[in-house]
Amino acid sequence: MVLTEEKLKLLYNKENIKEIKVDKKTVITPSAREYMAQKSIKLIEESKIEENNKIKIPIEASGRHIHLSQKEADILFGTGYVFTISKELSQLGQYAYKERVRLIGSKGIIENVVILGPMRKETQVELSLTDSRILGVNAVLRNSGLIDGTPGILMSNGKNFVYIDKGVIIARNHIHMNEKDANRLNVKDNDLIKVKIVSERSGIFENVLVRVDNKFILNMHIDYDEANAFYISKDSYGEIYE
Ligand SMILES: [Zn+2]
Repeated sequence: MVLTEEKLKLLYNKENIKEIKVDKKTVITPSAREYMAQKSIKLIEESKIEENNKIKIPIEASGRHIHLSQKEADILFGTGYVFTISKELSQLGQYAYKERVRLIGSKGIIENVVILGPMRKETQVELSLTDSRILGVNAVLRNSGLIDGTPGILMSNGKNFVYIDKGVIIARNHIHMNEKDANRLNVKDNDLIKVKIVSERSGIFENVLVRVDNKFILNMHIDYDEANAFYISKDSYGEIYE
């Protein structure tokens, strides 16, 4: 198809168009381009439309946090202690407690680490690599929940102390989604995929874990080191990179 000034004029006079969509094969005459500029008609190329139609995956940066087991919760806060919820998280049934914990490493201490609920079967401390360097802990990159062979750490709530002999990880970045999202994105649970982060400092993450559960809300979780590396802002998002 050839898009001429003549055709554009017709469209403009009839419908007062503000934009025009063209496919890759469309030839646009120079006078048509001039006319578009004159009338401020926006040119939208279809290849770009396809790109823009890609599913945007919201990104959430998770700060360092602790998932406590009942055992460690009892030691730190006392048996039967009831935690106070301070904030609901984006994933259903997940929340942050008001209570905080101090992490004590061989090289440093990090105060006020948030505890996320509900209780887990095993205590897990999720750090960024920067945090682990500050503490002097050799935290390893792991899928959440896979803590065998990971280092431990000393924790305190200011009053009581507990040492866990494993559970300190740098959580592998992952995307929460339900089955409908998984179908739309053409991925399945436990897949490792490439995700392009669209931000002021864009880039690609490889080996991003897909986590499918119908309770999940579409969200990519990265830690603060990753968020800072990619200059994440509220306008940033992820898209599957093939
Ligand atoms: Zn997550």
